[in-house]
Amino acid sequence: MQIKVVKRIMEASEQHAQEVRQRLQEAGVVALNLISAPGSGKTSLIECAIRELKDKVRIAVIEGDPDTTRDAERIAKLDVPVVQINTEGGCHLEATMVLRALEQIDLDGVQLLFIENVGNLVCPVVFDLGETRRVAVVSAAEGHDKPAKYPALFRTAQVTVLNKIDLIPYLDFDEAQFTCDVRRLNPEMPILRVSCRTGEGVSEWTRWLQNQIGSTVSPEFAPM
Ligand code: MG
Ligand code: ZN
Repeated sequence: MQIKVVKRIMEASEQHAQEVRQRLQEAGVVALNLISAPGSGKTSLIECAIRELKDKVRIAVIEGDPDTTRDAERIAKLDVPVVQINTEGGCHLEATMVLRALEQIDLDGVQLLFIENVGNLVCPVVFDLGETRRVAVVSAAEGHDKPAKYPALFRTAQVTVLNKIDLIPYLDFDEAQFTCDVRRLNPEMPILRVSCRTGEGVSEWTRWLQNQIGSTVSPEFAPM
């Protein structure tokens, strides 16, 4: 009996994801679902992309957090439309929350929609938000073993951002191992080396983002 209930919840969630996908496709919006552990620099990556692209690309942002509007306040300072989803302690975003957030955004003319997921490497991976692209973010400070320990994220993402590379000289971060583990899980996926602090790699990040504009085809969603 219980199994049936859980299954029905997942089915409803998949249906909502389908609705999000359809809305985005109709509006010609590319949605990027940023997934990482807390503190990897998702908000900073969004901020530096907005600073670089604001004059050429129309951007909107959905911020997911268990509490506070701090990340949304940072984004609002850059004058782009932003909606905060507070999950009230919940550890991931679901498509139904994204649907509700989309009601608050005028999608007309928007080309890129960043969706910053709740910082968590486990369950956000299982929930399809109807995104066009999934972005895995890891900061060097977290250690090189994240891909090996959380393979589902790296299998289902279309790009990996290795953030905070300016810290590598001070850490025991084995980048060769990191790259090898990512490649094993997802051989074709680009790995972008970025530091939002020094600006290194930011142009590769924004170039990758610009290359996604106009993509209407979402990857086949296969969470595990
Ligand atoms: Mg954040
Ligand atoms: Zn969760």
